[in-house]
Amino acid sequence: MRSDVWACVDCLMLLVNGEPNPEWSPLDEAEHVTRIEERFPTEILVHVGDESSDVDFSWSQCDTCGSTLGGSRYRFAAIRSTRLDFEAGDSEDRGDR
Ligand SMILES: [Zn+2]
Repeated sequence: MRSDVWACVDCLMLLVNGEPNPEWSPLDEAEHVTRIEERFPTEILVHVGDESSDVDFSWSQCDTCGSTLGGSRYRFAAIRSTRLDFEAGDSEDRGDR
């Protein structure tokens, strides 16, 4: 599990609220979702930040969509999907209890 994934406000809205940026077209939204899925194909992204750990402004690249626009960054954890682990039948990363 990674707990140092930094996401932009667009990704926060999409991942936490399921709401795309109102300025996006449906195609923009689909492309954004694809970019996140390409980076985290088997992980679930969970917002773990609070007001003290979120970053008000950064030029660093968004970890989930790759955006380099300056803005707020929100801390997420990337948790591997246990369901996929189970179906794949591999025995690594089981010690998360
Ligand atoms: Zn983003």
